[in-house]
Amino acid sequence: MNQQQQNQTVVPVIGRFAPSPTGPLHFGTLLAALGSYLLAKCSGGRWLLRIEDLDPPRVVPGAAETMLRLLEQLGFEWDGEIVYQSQRYARYQQILGQLDQDGRVFDCSCTRREILASAPHSGEEGPVYPGTCRGGARGKRSERAIRLRVADEDISYRDGVFGLQKQNLAEEVGDFILHRVDGLFAYQLAVVVDDIDTGITQVVRGADLLSSTPRQIYLYQCLKVALPEYFHLPLAFGDNGKKLSKRNGDIGLVTVENGSAMVWRALEFLGQSPPEELFHATPGELLCWGRNNFQAATIPAENRQVRF
Ligand SMILES: [Zn+2]
Repeated sequence: MNQQQQNQTVVPVIGRFAPSPTGPLHFGTLLAALGSYLLAKCSGGRWLLRIEDLDPPRVVPGAAETMLRLLEQLGFEWDGEIVYQSQRYARYQQILGQLDQDGRVFDCSCTRREILASAPHSGEEGPVYPGTCRGGARGKRSERAIRLRVADEDISYRDGVFGLQKQNLAEEVGDFILHRVDGLFAYQLAVVVDDIDTGITQVVRGADLLSSTPRQIYLYQCLKVALPEYFHLPLAFGDNGKKLSKRNGDIGLVTVENGSAMVWRALEFLGQSPPEELFHATPGELLCWGRNNFQAATIPAENRQVRF
């Protein structure tokens, strides 16, 4: 065993599942739970849970508790304390202060309409912020967002499923918001700070976040922290061609009753081939099979339709 292999074997995988408590568990969320759980556990790693209740108006009371109970009933076992983003505002503020001290952020007083009018073009992530307030926010508007100054260079990373990804933040996103006008912290900031603080080494989540990852990598760079590895999982679409989610009604809803069938289908969707004799197994038995047999290499890099 050479030195590099030795180093690799001593770094334990720490993965996580980080749902937003905006409704009941559905197939799309189950994919993220299952993929992150099995990828962490198949290498003997830890699997942490985080509730992303950053945006109070979107939080459905009781949804987090219901989801946690169901995960437990299906046989998922998480490690350590559950982290709630709503309890971490002081920490996000502290990191924001650190970025401010480093001269990396600036106040922005632009309205949405002004940005739309002045953006050079619209990227995948909406209008690209044209840098209007980089030299100082204009006027006396008290309502201000805080943006992170981005560099005009490509950020690339190799995703464990979708392969090489590349994005130029300046051209495709612009200086992005870390603290919103309404006083809430931005998702990008919270996710990175949480992942850093909990020592996450492996980020597994839906492919809808592929294009958010370069912003998060840039934040890691600004904070001088080593990057985790990334695995983005294919998305499941419903009959209407839209991503399966709680916004699309009851389709693909996971319950205790259909738990086995849903875990089976999720394993198949992620390119795994559980043996036929497990067809009537409990969800817990399927998870056990997955912990011993999960293959990252067979996860298909393709979003697909699922019928229930
Ligand atoms: Zn501005």
